[in-house]
Amino acid sequence: MRNTKINIERRKNKKTKPAPENLGFGTVYSDHMFIMDYSTEKGWHSPKITPYGPISLDPGTSVFQYAQSVFDGFKAYRTEDNRILIFRPEENLKRLNASCDRLCIPSIDEEFVLKAVKQLVDIDQDWIPTLKGTSLYIRPYIIATDVSLSVTPSKTYKFIMILSPVGAYYSEGFNPVGINVEETYARAVKGGTGAAKTAGNYSPGYKAQEKASEKGNAQVLWLDAIEKKYIEEVGSMNVFFKINNEVITPPLNGTILSGITRMSVIELLKYWNVPVYERDITIEEVHQAYVNGGLEEVFGAGTAAVIAPIGQLNWGDQEMVINNKQTGGLSQKLFDTLIGIQTGKLEDPFNWTVE
Ligand code: PMP
Repeated sequence: MRNTKINIERRKNKKTKPAPENLGFGTVYSDHMFIMDYSTEKGWHSPKITPYGPISLDPGTSVFQYAQSVFDGFKAYRTEDNRILIFRPEENLKRLNASCDRLCIPSIDEEFVLKAVKQLVDIDQDWIPTLKGTSLYIRPYIIATDVSLSVTPSKTYKFIMILSPVGAYYSEGFNPVGINVEETYARAVKGGTGAAKTAGNYSPGYKAQEKASEKGNAQVLWLDAIEKKYIEEVGSMNVFFKINNEVITPPLNGTILSGITRMSVIELLKYWNVPVYERDITIEEVHQAYVNGGLEEVFGAGTAAVIAPIGQLNWGDQEMVINNKQTGGLSQKLFDTLIGIQTGKLEDPFNWTVE
């Protein structure tokens, strides 16, 4: 696969680009997309870059019934000196393969797909927005394409990669949000698929999100499914707590997605000699820290927002206001450093970006 040539069919008339101020998240796509197919006989084959457009699938295609599918997401940025940087794509492709393994989907050749990422981004590079806070979101995904209602792994698949210019998450600056601690619904169970980035993990969260929104919260804090005691994630981000000058994040115990931002935050904190622990943390411990005045900062970490400061945790009738609903110093420093490295404004001592 490694040396397979990617067939390129360029679009004749380029699409109109939206104004960078009006970009949302994944509502607009670039001129081209990457597709390749899998069959048991040929493995992954026929990679091509084609004009972006609808694909045709038999209504009996198995992915529509049983959601055998995986995806990932990462970003490309245009630097001030006109280079293109992609943030840690190797880690995302490694994670995509880990998700494939969990869903019985054949693995991809990470090196080859990285080449495809670079080629696609290069062809559509004028879709990388340059307004502060914007970027080009890269979404690779794999779907099961057997026409079959049998509850078994598909023998054929499609790998598709699309590009979306996305807007600034914080166009009006940080605004620490309120979070509902969810005690009824669960996101993931031990032995389940929480550690994989698979379609079926996401829509079951809508109900809890709806409940959180009705109470005026921006997102859900997920607890473990059994005891509703241990903290797992926030919305679709990993979560960090700064308590008495130490930073704590739940460990990767099988129910949590291994976030690339999480990984980067931990590496940065270690680099700065800030004590950071991956360990179990209960909502009760967080509440105790709040009562004792030790709960200094809480934030989410993920590709979309990078760092999302949390201003209030609502747990039953307990309302924990954090840092006076202001963005904490460490959250701000992590955000500035990560964005700085991603956009090429700061040194990249870890070699995280790929040009
Ligand atoms: N948890 C979940 C459930 C997610 O979907 C995401 C987004 N990929 C994350 C955490 C954050 O991961 P990353 O930093 O790689 O975006």
